[in-house]
Amino acid sequence: MTDILASATPRKAVVIGSGFGGLACAIRLQRAGFATTVVERRDQPGGRAYVYRDQGFTFDAGPTVITAPACLEELFQLAGHTMAEYVDLVPVMPFYRLMWDDGTHFDYSNDLEDTRRQIAAFHPPDVAGYERFLRYSAEVFEAGYTQLAHVPFLSFRDMIRVAPKLARLEAYRSVYSMVARHVANPKLREAFSFHSLLVGGNPFAASSIYTLIHHLEREWGVFFPRGGTGALVQALVKLFEDLGGTVRLGFGVDRITTTGNRVSGVVAADGERLDADVVVSNADVVHTYRSLLRDSPAGRARGDRLARRRHSMSLFVAYFGTRRKYPGVAHHTVLFGPRYRELLDDIFTKGRLADDFSLYLHAPTVTDQSLAPEGCEAFYVLSPVPHLGRAGIDWATVGPRYADRILEYLERRLLPDLRREIVTLRLFTPTDFSSELNAHWGSAFSLEPVLWQSAYFRAHNRDRDIGGLYLVGAGTHPGAGLPGVVNSAKATAGLVLADAGVA
Ligand SMILES: Cc1cc2nc3c(=O)[nH]c(=O)nc-3n(C[C@H](O)[C@H](O)[C@H](O)COP(=O)(O)OP(=O)(O)OC[C@H]3O[C@@H](n4cnc5c(N)ncnc54)[C@H](O)[C@@H]3O)c2cc1C
Repeated sequence: MTDILASATPRKAVVIGSGFGGLACAIRLQRAGFATTVVERRDQPGGRAYVYRDQGFTFDAGPTVITAPACLEELFQLAGHTMAEYVDLVPVMPFYRLMWDDGTHFDYSNDLEDTRRQIAAFHPPDVAGYERFLRYSAEVFEAGYTQLAHVPFLSFRDMIRVAPKLARLEAYRSVYSMVARHVANPKLREAFSFHSLLVGGNPFAASSIYTLIHHLEREWGVFFPRGGTGALVQALVKLFEDLGGTVRLGFGVDRITTTGNRVSGVVAADGERLDADVVVSNADVVHTYRSLLRDSPAGRARGDRLARRRHSMSLFVAYFGTRRKYPGVAHHTVLFGPRYRELLDDIFTKGRLADDFSLYLHAPTVTDQSLAPEGCEAFYVLSPVPHLGRAGIDWATVGPRYADRILEYLERRLLPDLRREIVTLRLFTPTDFSSELNAHWGSAFSLEPVLWQSAYFRAHNRDRDIGGLYLVGAGTHPGAGLPGVVNSAKATAGLVLADAGVA
């Protein structure tokens, strides 16, 4: 790679937002010689991977299931380092404990013998079906991840090129229907289809391409950074700063400025200006176009179009610390409620806050006790809920009651006396996703990952009208989740460098 610093006055890049996608893109640009500044409106970097601290407890706000470490390692290697010099990733086993309300459970991992044994205990004929599903998932992974995740889709031709492959893999089917073709037991169908929820997709609507997550986890494992996901964010920030990049916290961009049809920089809410040849927005795609580019008719129009697209669900999250330990709890637990399809329908289609829930419980102190005082446990529990465009719920009123119902449920199913043992509690609702993260409708994962909103049909990594404007993160190709946004950074940075003649 040519270093443009060596040849000319360095070109300036501003990255708006310090989510994983923004940081990964900034590292690539800085490494290639762009003088890069990351501007972040909050007081900490990480975006959805924010960190809360209280009374000796550390709570990672968002991503906790760290997969595909290779795409992160690549960033460190680009800079001549290894990830291990900056942060330690600890393998987590089992990947998830899946629990149903009749008391049955499944410890999901990439230990094939153990998986076969557990499947046989539920429904012996499903062992062979699962193995067929694994082969399908590996094939989809090869096409959807290895070949296409880091490749931008800018023209319809790019889509036509992959259409035969997508058709052969039956990408038009849903994740659930593909799993159901291979596996008959209703609980096992849930166990092998819930993964698309991790990137904001309803298993009954998300393209079967998303079954690739199954293979991705099996292939590379599930990890947790020592010190929490926040330690991984800090590692990326340090790598970026070691390369000479600058991070400005508390810098909320009010507008992206343009001269003619090219970007010229950004202006903060307090009027401070940063000039730039290249602006990469890691902020929500609707916010980027509708708000930050409100002075550009083309920008506003694109924002309005994106606002009408289907957005993924939101999340209700409760972070809590207990004064006691809960031995036997797994690091990652999924508690399935009594309904699956119907509950997802309430969340994604009907916009109803249901009386029942399916929950994800994070217990990081199972792997790393440094995240809570000795003898205590740190947790978060999340419940997928409709976004604000589907259900006009007044979360300031409903939130505390909803939290209490969830905690009472956890008390009954897994954590005895929980409410008596809690010493710290903080809630994050769809309203917070909207106000804290500028997320359209408070969506937790941006555009819903359905086939007609994937690849070419997602927000493009490079704007087609405004020169020097690029996008990165969950709303762009390939989509949400850490591997998704880190790959989107590779796609976006590749375009910036190619356009600058630095490929
Ligand atoms: C609760 C939760 C749990 C999750 N769990 C997992 C998991 O276990 N594994 C996984 O892989 N993924 C998980 N995800 C998904 C994953 O976290 C996200 O898809 C990913 O982190 C999004 O990264 P991003 O690059 O799109 O940026 P974001 O994290 O969305 O960050 C965007 C940044 O832009 C900033 N910004 C917005 N507007 C402006 C402005 N005007 N000026 C300046 N800055 C601005 C925001 O403050 C924010 O910091 C989870 C998500 C959530 C919410």
